[in-house]
Amino acid sequence: MTQVQIESYLSGRWQAGTGPGAVLVNPATEAPVASASTVGLDFGNALAFARTTGGAELRALTFAQRGAVLERMSGALHAAREGLIEAQLVNGGCTRGDAKFDVDGAIGVLYHYAELGKSLGDRRLLADGEGIQLGRSPRFWGQHVYVPRRGVAVLINAFNFPAWGFAEKAACALLAGMPVITKPATSTALTAYLATKVLVDAGLPPGILSFVGGGSGDLLDHLQGQDILSFTGSANTGHKLRSHRRVVEASVPVNVEADSLNAAVLGPDVELGSDTMQLFLRDLSREITQKTGQKCTAVRRIFVPAERVDDVVAELSARFSETVIGDPALKEVRMGPLASADQLRDVRAGVERLQKDATVVYGDPQAKLAPLGVEPGRGYFFPVLLLKAKNSAHSPEVHSHEVFGPVATVLPYSGKAEEAAELVALGGGGLVASIFSDDRDFTETATLGIAPFHGRVYLGSAKVLEHAMGPGLVLPQTIHGGPGRAGGGEELGGLRGVEHFMQRTAIQGSRPIVEHLTGTKPT
Ligand code: NAP
Repeated sequence: MTQVQIESYLSGRWQAGTGPGAVLVNPATEAPVASASTVGLDFGNALAFARTTGGAELRALTFAQRGAVLERMSGALHAAREGLIEAQLVNGGCTRGDAKFDVDGAIGVLYHYAELGKSLGDRRLLADGEGIQLGRSPRFWGQHVYVPRRGVAVLINAFNFPAWGFAEKAACALLAGMPVITKPATSTALTAYLATKVLVDAGLPPGILSFVGGGSGDLLDHLQGQDILSFTGSANTGHKLRSHRRVVEASVPVNVEADSLNAAVLGPDVELGSDTMQLFLRDLSREITQKTGQKCTAVRRIFVPAERVDDVVAELSARFSETVIGDPALKEVRMGPLASADQLRDVRAGVERLQKDATVVYGDPQAKLAPLGVEPGRGYFFPVLLLKAKNSAHSPEVHSHEVFGPVATVLPYSGKAEEAAELVALGGGGLVASIFSDDRDFTETATLGIAPFHGRVYLGSAKVLEHAMGPGLVLPQTIHGGPGRAGGGEELGGLRGVEHFMQRTAIQGSRPIVEHLTGTKPT
């Protein structure tokens, strides 16, 4: 592949920053594939253009018409699917399967919100709940509504989902009536750049989509009170953005999707060889190795009744030993490298921290790997590792440090649902926790104990063996996000995700007037 110069699409035109810019590489070979610079670009003007031109264009459309725009976007990405998958093979370390997960996720989430837009019809605002009688008679009436905010949605994404990460945020914002400025992580920005090119060429209404290809520069210094900042990435960056001077001064709403020490709990009723055990092993081996463990929803902590720990370690190890590591462009390869040199450094350092609390029971963090199809010594490869906690309740590193790679820790517990829930909660709040059991009482107690600390609880049982999609799959119908460590954010969940990009306002007045202007007059 010849080296691509990634440009930004701002103020309705493609623009290149000055200077050499950051170099994007193929993490399997370390060969440069692209460069990206935003130095010298006028972000103030870009935000103003999006707010005025893009905002006006979107607000003039009904939900159904915005849905049609999303459908066009989904179709355009679908037509360009092969090229986008290829981009992730060379700039992301993704196998074809990993890349499809991201690209098809983007196409699917845009399509989902396109359909939702259609179902909302010719409206431009959303009623929130029923009308309310506010006085002694129904004459003085109240109705909550959601209206589009007049700002721009600034979407900052992590390196691991360059296509889906953009699409899941953009679909909700655009359907809500807010133009978007999207910024992927620089290290894997090639896919998002190519996707934006495809979308721009598809002829979207002017100003509704802008793209920052590289560093964010002074972008956030230009935020205003009607804007929204939606961020996915590390907790550290999340803290910085939340406390950014303009965010604080202008009360800019911030949604943060950050780290998560996702847990899986195996119930004491699950026998070796049972359907539920098969589901548990299948889901876990995929969740730990897919995208080389660089998924926000990947399972990091595995709670197993003490008497089953040896069996589970043996079964998972057998599956991991079949994972072919190498150049993700090769068909036989099941796991590629980590996405960047920084990622490799962080994962190595993170494993050293976990080893304070846990012992490696599968894999060798020091192993000299010989990845298939790769020149020896090249690439940011790391083996699959399974650790076992020495003391499940007293493993501060395991419960607090996310190693963003193919690494998980088994934590023995007594088999009591209450204890499992308490141990899971030590993670300080997460995106998703899974419970594998066919015992209703165990499942109920564990779910109610775990739910307050998570955005989603996935229940694996024999009944859903052929249907469940794994805890790592984020579906547009249900919410994504989580409290505490996970950032306190919430996205998707059908209409809920759209409402985040709208202003809720209570309209009070004469009932006929309120009902007329909010479109809530009973028929
Ligand atoms: P990161 O280093 O925090 O970067 C995330 C994004 O923030 C990138 O686009 C980055 O741009 C940008 N950024 C960094 N500093 C910034 C600043 N001062 N101002 C404005 N933007 C800034 O995270 P990452 O390494 O890409 O992603 C890995 C992390 O994301 C993991 O911890 C993972 O758990 C988390 N994650 C969470 C979810 C979720 O849904 N909860 C999903 C995926 C990943 P540059 O690349 O240009 O620096």
